[in-house]
Amino acid sequence: MDLGIAGRWAIVCAASKGLGKGCATALAREGVNLVINARGIDTLEETAVYLRTLHPAIEVRCVAGDVSRDDIRHALLIACPQVDILVNNAGGPPPGDFRNWTREDWLNAIEINMLTPIELIKATVDGMAERGFGRVVTITSSAVKAPIDILGLSNGARSGLTGFVAGLARQPRLAEQNVTLNNLLPGSFDTERLQKTIQSSSQATGKSQEAIADQRLQGIPARRFGTAEEFGAVCAFLCSVHASYMTGQNVLLDGGAYPGTF
Ligand code: NAP
Repeated sequence: MDLGIAGRWAIVCAASKGLGKGCATALAREGVNLVINARGIDTLEETAVYLRTLHPAIEVRCVAGDVSRDDIRHALLIACPQVDILVNNAGGPPPGDFRNWTREDWLNAIEINMLTPIELIKATVDGMAERGFGRVVTITSSAVKAPIDILGLSNGARSGLTGFVAGLARQPRLAEQNVTLNNLLPGSFDTERLQKTIQSSSQATGKSQEAIADQRLQGIPARRFGTAEEFGAVCAFLCSVHASYMTGQNVLLDGGAYPGTF
């Protein structure tokens, strides 16, 4: 299927590895020009080199730095001639017990996993509406639908973001101007973050990493972890011309782990 977005420009945040890289990869294959971001410049530039090999006509620009910083977001917006597609992403907050979290821990989580995407949405959706095309895909987590006890900072901040996006997607002059806002909710995907989570559970419990991974797989009807490539393919579809009538949705990608009917 031709997704109809060749020649468009996208900002993909937190895209040097993992799910963000999966999204950038799928968009690059469709001929979308990219501005990609991550804090570590070396891996970011390696990813840019890889993305340029995927399509002969695309341009890939890098903006290194923490996306929760105003100056980095500003640099992302300056680097992108026109933002047709925005993929919001960043690292997740650390796990822990809410009894140990300080006000500062909460403010950090809200800053990165709620206010940062809201600032980027604010800076881009009106221009998208004026041009009659826009796609915002925000990577959140399956924890928005089924909270994970040790990820209270993520459950809280991302749920706030989800509520905001749900309201914004229905505001006047967005959907009617072909601007859609949807969230992608990853379950367990085989990325560096997942491997680190498995390693720390192994250290905390004394169980082997294989045993921890196997235990997690028992809760996933697909009996495997997702791949960044398949995550990116769904993102690219949401960014396509075919998804114009889909907005304000939370799309769960979890191999069937969430047990609810809806
Ligand atoms: P990952 O493999 O660790 O990759 C994270 C990427 O984000 C890297 O490119 C990293 O590069 C970049 N990054 C992290 N913090 C950043 C920041 N402040 N500013 C700019 N770039 C930043 O992680 P992932 O598994 O793809 O996860 C992506 C998001 O999905 C996270 O929020 C995670 O909590 C969420 N999620 C993932 C899963 C899963 O199973 N993988 C499940 C649920 C939710 P630098 O370190 O160089 O900045």
